[in-house]
Amino acid sequence: MNPFNYERASATDAAIKSGAMHGAKFLAGGTNLVDLMKYGVESPTTLVDINHLGLGDVTSLTDGSVRIGALVKNSDLADHPIIKSQYPLLSQALLSGASPQLRNMATTGGNLLQRTRCYYFTDISFPACNKRMPGSGCAAIKGYNRIHAILGQTDRGPESKETCIATNPSDMNVAMAALDATIEVEGAKGKRTIPFSEFHKLPGATPWIETALHPDELIVAVTLPPARFARNAYYLKARDRNSYAFALISVAAGLEMGDGQVKSAGLALGGVALKPWRSVEAEKSLLGKPASPESFRQAAEIALHGARGYEHNSFKIEMAKHGVVRALTLASMGTSETTA
Ligand SMILES: Cc1cc2nc3c(=O)[nH]c(=O)nc-3n(C[C@H](O)[C@H](O)[C@H](O)COP(=O)(O)OP(=O)(O)OC[C@H]3O[C@@H](n4cnc5c(N)ncnc54)[C@H](O)[C@@H]3O)c2cc1C
Repeated sequence: MNPFNYERASATDAAIKSGAMHGAKFLAGGTNLVDLMKYGVESPTTLVDINHLGLGDVTSLTDGSVRIGALVKNSDLADHPIIKSQYPLLSQALLSGASPQLRNMATTGGNLLQRTRCYYFTDISFPACNKRMPGSGCAAIKGYNRIHAILGQTDRGPESKETCIATNPSDMNVAMAALDATIEVEGAKGKRTIPFSEFHKLPGATPWIETALHPDELIVAVTLPPARFARNAYYLKARDRNSYAFALISVAAGLEMGDGQVKSAGLALGGVALKPWRSVEAEKSLLGKPASPESFRQAAEIALHGARGYEHNSFKIEMAKHGVVRALTLASMGTSETTA
């Protein structure tokens, strides 16, 4: 690990000022950043500890929405009475991630920004990774690409500086995408909010730019709109082990039912793209339809439209389609107490 300075910030404006210094990084739970520093992937010159900024509350707002401070721990969020009762999809997604010990450290802001688990990104002995070393190419295209993207990737060949088939590994992000959250950030130029769908970036021609966050900006909160899917929600996660493993594919499904028909839907997939893959078209296809295998299968086809696999991950396309049908079916049967 390289030497670095450590600073404990006690106020948001001081944290933002320190965070704007060249090479500085915010430190929240440290469960991703410190690992990446040990691997030599990240080498910040200063760590600005933001754990004492008072951003650890979950608050109900008068318009029915809920504001989650950036420093709320994943375990506290999953168990919070408002989240468990009104947003079980988020609670389920959080509880499916990592381990209890990690969830006790991991924060909302850090989870939003956790970096890809692509082996060629996290292992610096591989020379080609456009994320880690812009312009170096992509070793995953011809490598062991079992956990990689099937949607939204850039593939112009292993040598291209634009190629990237990594995925976003977060479970929380998938639920937040389906719930249509917004992200509140603060920087030297003031505050702004970013719709969830615009926060994470697909690789496009610049795979090393991962989010809409500016380097000096601090995430202060995430806001969830008034709850629609409390009664009918299901987070499905398919993985190699039943605990302590990232998703091969995951599906966050929420339904608002009325008179036997879908009144509104939230549908997002994880493990398939470099951002949580919300399919607004698939959501729309469900509107006014009964909760039936036919309408769910149609939504799955729409959500996976254009999917393309590689040597080791083509199985994900069918797996994701089945996952969508199963998650919607289980959501339509009612949120289960045991999964929240
Ligand atoms: C063994 C293991 C298994 C795991 N399994 C899963 C899993 O199954 N599912 C899953 O979803 N996750 C999993 N994780 C990942 C874990 O959820 C993340 O490491 C965690 O959420 C990151 O949060 P943190 O607070 O520790 O972030 P940190 O490591 O402190 O920070 C991560 C990044 O976010 C930045 N940052 C943090 N907070 C802010 C802020 N408020 N504003 C601006 N920038 C900020 C930091 O500078 C850093 O770049 C696993 C991790 C490990 C180690």
